[in-house]
Amino acid sequence: MKISQALIDEMAVHALEDRPNECCGMVGGKDGVATKVVPVLNAAASPLRYEMDPKGQYDALKEIEADGELLAIYHSHTKSAAYPSQTDVNQAQNWPEPIYVIVSLVNEEKPDVKGFHLADLKIVDAELEIG
Ligand SMILES: [Zn+2]
Repeated sequence: MKISQALIDEMAVHALEDRPNECCGMVGGKDGVATKVVPVLNAAASPLRYEMDPKGQYDALKEIEADGELLAIYHSHTKSAAYPSQTDVNQAQNWPEPIYVIVSLVNEEKPDVKGFHLADLKIVDAELEIG
């Protein structure tokens, strides 16, 4: 997925705002190029996991599909690396198609953002081409 630094920054700002809880949301775009980041309420309101609020998820998907498609689902790790937890992998099996982007706030000055494919209970790097 190709994504601009500005959209990466939007996810990082959302992650910082929702501390100490994890944040979550969606990335929409076209032909593998991200064009928008849509925050979704974390209904779990937890520092350890996320659960997209059903109404928020529905509205975000509607907004994204108005002029593109869902490319990625993102969430933050406030105290751990930008790498999927077993919970993340399990949860992704319900919706395996999108890329899973994780924003790590271990270094708050410089959030680390990485993407993964999590289908079939595997963790495979998804390249984020920033620019
Ligand atoms: Zn996670």
